[in-house]
Amino acid sequence: MENKNALVTGGLRGIGHAIGLEYARNGFDIILWDVMDEGKDESIDLLKKAGAGEVFFNKVNVADLAQVSSAIDEIISKQGKLDVLINNAGITKDNLLISMTEDEFDRVISVNLKGTFNCSKSAVKHMIKRRSGSIINISSVIGIMGNKGQSNYAASKAGIIGFTKSLAKEVGSRNVRVNAVAPGFIETEMTKKLPPEVIAEYAKLIPLGRMGSVEDVAKVCFFLSSENANYITGQVIHCDGGMLM
Ligand code: NAP
Repeated sequence: MENKNALVTGGLRGIGHAIGLEYARNGFDIILWDVMDEGKDESIDLLKKAGAGEVFFNKVNVADLAQVSSAIDEIISKQGKLDVLINNAGITKDNLLISMTEDEFDRVISVNLKGTFNCSKSAVKHMIKRRSGSIINISSVIGIMGNKGQSNYAASKAGIIGFTKSLAKEVGSRNVRVNAVAPGFIETEMTKKLPPEVIAEYAKLIPLGRMGSVEDVAKVCFFLSSENANYITGQVIHCDGGMLM
């Protein structure tokens, strides 16, 4: 049987890497994109050991539509299709609005929100033609509840939710499903940068009493793209230990 394939943006580290591993364990071909290629050999090796079919890496900046579009075309010409796109690449540039520079605002929007637009736009036309595909956009609880010092990040992640619902309505009739995952407080390099007192405050807000793991998020993504979720589209699944209830 032909392998299914999944493209994970920002796939070398953190949540993206765990998402790749989850699809690898389920025998998918994996395409990883990242803006840097440091650590790619190790990452590819781990995916192969986990059970991936073929693994491809491409250095792609998701904020650049021309780069994204030609890299998607390359996937289609090599593999003939794209089954799953996970828009995971994301950055933070935190600052109180009063001190936030235009560049800090623009960079976060261009990677997180425009990156999601660029990748979805380039991939969805192929999915529509095949009448099959699943797009998963990684949002955040911050996009729903907001956060001091993260107006740029919160705007980008809230934007992803509106984008997800709109695209789900546009392409549902072509059997392409589009969903978002809103992780809460997940243990990664991104959250390790936070001061310990901020981490302690967040932990108090989580009914399940722990930070999430990258695997917790990866499993939700896999479920959403699987046949078990065939009737789910346009949804935002909170993976946050109950934090936002
Ligand atoms: P991470 O460890 O920093 O990983 C993000 C990945 O995206 C990195 O490999 C990074 O590459 C890559 N990337 C950055 N800019 C890119 C670009 N322009 N094009 C392509 N790749 C790019 O972050 P993470 O914590 O795993 O977060 C993954 C996603 O989950 C993000 O969208 C984040 O907003 C979201 N999220 C995270 C949490 C959390 O608690 N960690 C909570 C909610 C949502 P470099 O390292 O080379 O820059």
